[in-house]
Amino acid sequence: MNPAKFVPRSAAGHGRFAPSPSGDLHLGNLRTALLAWLFARSTGRGFVLRVEDLDRARSGSEEHQLADLAAIGLDWDGDVVRQSERLPRYETAIARLHDAGSTYECFCTRREIQQAASAPHAPQGAYPGTCRDLTNSERAALRATGRAPALRLRATVNELTITDELHGRYTGVVDDFVLRRGDLTPAYNLAVVVDDAEQKIDQVVRGDDLLPSTPRQVYLAHTLGLPVPAYVHVPLALNSQGQRLAKRDGPVTLADHLAAGRTTSDVVAIIAASLQLNGTTPAELLDRFDPAQLPRTPWVVTQ
Ligand code: GLU
Repeated sequence: MNPAKFVPRSAAGHGRFAPSPSGDLHLGNLRTALLAWLFARSTGRGFVLRVEDLDRARSGSEEHQLADLAAIGLDWDGDVVRQSERLPRYETAIARLHDAGSTYECFCTRREIQQAASAPHAPQGAYPGTCRDLTNSERAALRATGRAPALRLRATVNELTITDELHGRYTGVVDDFVLRRGDLTPAYNLAVVVDDAEQKIDQVVRGDDLLPSTPRQVYLAHTLGLPVPAYVHVPLALNSQGQRLAKRDGPVTLADHLAAGRTTSDVVAIIAASLQLNGTTPAELLDRFDPAQLPRTPWVVTQ
């Protein structure tokens, strides 16, 4: 490793990988995990795993995901954290926002939001604020219909500019996004901010499909007085039609490749080659890792 290039920014901080246990990890997920590990370890950070199982958890999926990450040679520090075991922490953050007058109940259905959001002046993808200024009697009437309200953040900005190590300055929508769903499940945007701060994550490496969510998360971190990590949104893996890699695209998981006669070293080598690196273990790649050389375009997986 070239020491001039890799000055640890904060030896106390951590990077992380935070998969949703909704199925086996595919090559693109493994590649993001490897990158998160390389970014963390090459900067002297710890590396932690967090299972984001507030919804979409499929039985057995977490075990498979962790086994695959270990099989390709990734290691992590401390115990794996599960969001489903941390509900009181999310409620504490929600209570703080509520006490500060920064939340409101929203009774809109998905369909109502889509209709209102497609109005000519609505910012793309933003909640149009339908329930923001309901009177007490309007709210009581909606509650009486039996609808379970979601809780939204009362945002005071419409957009925010964040900095990403690969994308540079990025400006995106901050709307009154959901903090807790009608079924009382904490929303991803809330949980991720609470967890990243509590786990001392100061470097978030994840797929660039999440870049548009980042201004919301940074705004929430500011609102809760929490530190904002450095962000690195890495390109996704796509199939030959330019769609996100999925099961139907042939051998996409580690198990698929092993069944086809490849070894885990072969799979690491395939992922490494997609990063223009040569090597068959993460430890070997660490010596050659240079963020400046990373491809900035999606990885089109053809085999
Ligand atoms: N759990 C999310 C996913 O698997 C990733 C969230 C994040 O890295 O912030 O897509």
